[in-house]
Amino acid sequence: MSEVRRSRRLFENAQTRFPGGVNSPVRAFGGVGGTPRVLVRGEGPRVYDADGNCYIDYVASWGPLILGHSHPRVVQAIDRAAADGTSFGALNPHEIELAELIVEAMPSLELLRFVSSGTEACMSAIRLARAYTGREMVLKFAGCYHGHADAMLVQTGSGGLTFGVPSSAGVPAALAALTIVAPYNDTEPVERAFRQHDGKIACVIVEPIAANMGLVLPEHDFLHQVVDFAHRNGALIVFDEVITGFRVAHGGAQKVFGITPDLTCLGKIIGAGMPVGAFGGRADIMRRLAPSGDVYQAGTLSGNPVAMAAGAAQLRELRAPGVYERLEALGAALDEGLRRVIRELGTQLRVYRVGSIFGLFFTAQHVRDLVTVMQSDAKAYAKFFHAMLDQGVALAPSAYEVGFISTAHSAADIEDTVAAVHAALSTRGAVTTAT
Ligand code: PMP
Repeated sequence: MSEVRRSRRLFENAQTRFPGGVNSPVRAFGGVGGTPRVLVRGEGPRVYDADGNCYIDYVASWGPLILGHSHPRVVQAIDRAAADGTSFGALNPHEIELAELIVEAMPSLELLRFVSSGTEACMSAIRLARAYTGREMVLKFAGCYHGHADAMLVQTGSGGLTFGVPSSAGVPAALAALTIVAPYNDTEPVERAFRQHDGKIACVIVEPIAANMGLVLPEHDFLHQVVDFAHRNGALIVFDEVITGFRVAHGGAQKVFGITPDLTCLGKIIGAGMPVGAFGGRADIMRRLAPSGDVYQAGTLSGNPVAMAAGAAQLRELRAPGVYERLEALGAALDEGLRRVIRELGTQLRVYRVGSIFGLFFTAQHVRDLVTVMQSDAKAYAKFFHAMLDQGVALAPSAYEVGFISTAHSAADIEDTVAAVHAALSTRGAVTTAT
């Protein structure tokens, strides 16, 4: 067991300041128990906690740090931009540069707007879709996360398609009722929803690869069919690429699947760990935004020069040849190593992966939607998580999150991680094994 005295003391102090001791819920370790590590430094693939423990990090600030922590070019860009002023509340050249780098990779963003978080991006894209179509309903998928705006804090009821029921207190039922929730990877309920609410659905918002209920890959023609239903019914397609953008490929999931969404939401990765988001898409839709149009949307810190410069430095690095090949090779090495261990030990652990994103589920069955996700063994994950943490490997502190590999991870880091998984699974009687 690593020493966590300082982390514990700081967390106790934080609990007197912040609800639950944190400023974003999953950080509190509620899903896995134990003491959240207070992190004081990150360098490359590693993070260091307040007690001096070092971890190979697969959280990567929940995705954005695709180059690892404190990448020298990102840090230099931040230093230089900050020296020129931390915020102007006026147009600055860094915004234009970052926009050009984004559009070069994702041409579907004919016009875009910067915001300060993924939540804002999704919330604003939905407002725009509602205004553009003159419709009020929104269709989302169970288990997909699109930030914490009221309209998106809605999950499905017990199976099947239902009217939205708020999944957070404080969300007005009348607003939640405008959000329809369908199961991921199932096209029939989507078709039914469009039949039932003909002419009323403004947009379908979807994570093209679901990465907020663990990693759930879209099956066969799921995305293409959803796009087809939506467009035949005059609804817009909003791809939430806050996780997948610049991660699964330079051009995001839309490039991988050959789909041009009407609107795209981007987040943290385009800010290299600074608070950034963006949404963009078809010019005729985007022109409805103020000041060129009648849909209000604004932000004092939107297009913040320091955040924009950090993002531009990261995206410039991601243009270099071989970056995504390297991420794929590291991902494949981890994937193969884990499968080897699982085969050897007979553990009921399923590994899913796309490029540098991976998801682990303690279950015997294939995971394809929220129902099968919830049937996985979250308690086994919690034990596994702590066994990994004790060996210096930081995974997400929740069974329903994913892991991220960065270009800073080395082949040796991956080997060490696989060895830690072997030790974690073989010493833990509580982790279920196949019979
Ligand atoms: N959409 C997706 C797909 C996300 O994963 C997240 C956050 N992880 C968000 C939206 C919200 O982004 P933020 O936390 O920056 O508000």
